[in-house]
Amino acid sequence: MKRRDFLATAPLAATALASPMLAARPASAEAHAMSGGQVPAVQRFAVGDITVTAIADGSLHIGPENLIGIEAPDYEELLTASFRDPATFPSAVNCFLIETGDQTIMVDAGTASAMGPSLGKMPQNLAAAGVEPGAVTKLLATHLHPDHVAGALGEDGAAFFPNAELAVHEADRAFWTGDFSGAPEMMQTFAGLAGNVLSAYGERLQIITGEDEVAPGITAMPLPGHTPGHTGYMISSGDASLLIWADIVHVAPVQLARPGVAIGFDVDPDQAVATRRETLDRVAADRLMVAGSHIGFPGLVNITADGEGYRMIPAHWDYSL
Ligand SMILES: [Zn+2]
Repeated sequence: MKRRDFLATAPLAATALASPMLAARPASAEAHAMSGGQVPAVQRFAVGDITVTAIADGSLHIGPENLIGIEAPDYEELLTASFRDPATFPSAVNCFLIETGDQTIMVDAGTASAMGPSLGKMPQNLAAAGVEPGAVTKLLATHLHPDHVAGALGEDGAAFFPNAELAVHEADRAFWTGDFSGAPEMMQTFAGLAGNVLSAYGERLQIITGEDEVAPGITAMPLPGHTPGHTGYMISSGDASLLIWADIVHVAPVQLARPGVAIGFDVDPDQAVATRRETLDRVAADRLMVAGSHIGFPGLVNITADGEGYRMIPAHWDYSL
């Protein structure tokens, strides 16, 4: 599907993103209600002296109709080969908390109520991690899409993290505050939300322009394409490092095997594909652990080359903490 077709037929607003097409709710969820549902999804990892905590926001289903460069039969084959159900495969939405000793930093904030009931769980999981929103000193946005920053706003529209500085790449700030009159309604909705987030944090704004050190041990890594200012964050302490790579993949079983597959939400799909190939090549060669916004919770994996593409090896439970 070409990008313009996608934008013409895609769900047109953030509320529409909660449509059954994207909702990931197993049919049998009611049958499990007696168990009280899932326990809080929070998992801590040591990166040298820095603690990184994966915080789940929930999940959404991204079907082949949302992707560019793959048809349904191939999508189904790749999911099935990964022992996943192509009809319901949940792409995670993860946020990450970074505790450095003197700073308490969030990377992204989830969706709040913008994308339906299968998402918006960051606040309860952050609470389970023992962190008050007011204790967060910095919010590092990977980009200004609603699945990453709608949760930066509370229900009242004010900053959910009242004391945090918002860090965002200048290219995303500039793009999303541009003129979207005449653009597809979905893009107008995205831009409206981005503008609201920027306004809520007001003067508390840190603009990223390159590989800037945004906090001690944390360096911004521009990964443009998905959005113009799409940015990963490299965490380094001693010999340990972890790259939070944000949206390098949205449907891991598909895009690891076939990195040339883009998503309709890419602002520049060709650049997004080039960035994905470059990043996969680098993290595989460097044996660098990555944390993905949309990799199954907790989202920490290593990447290794596999045939024409790559595969991922999940991180083990961190017994050192
Ligand atoms: Zn995303």
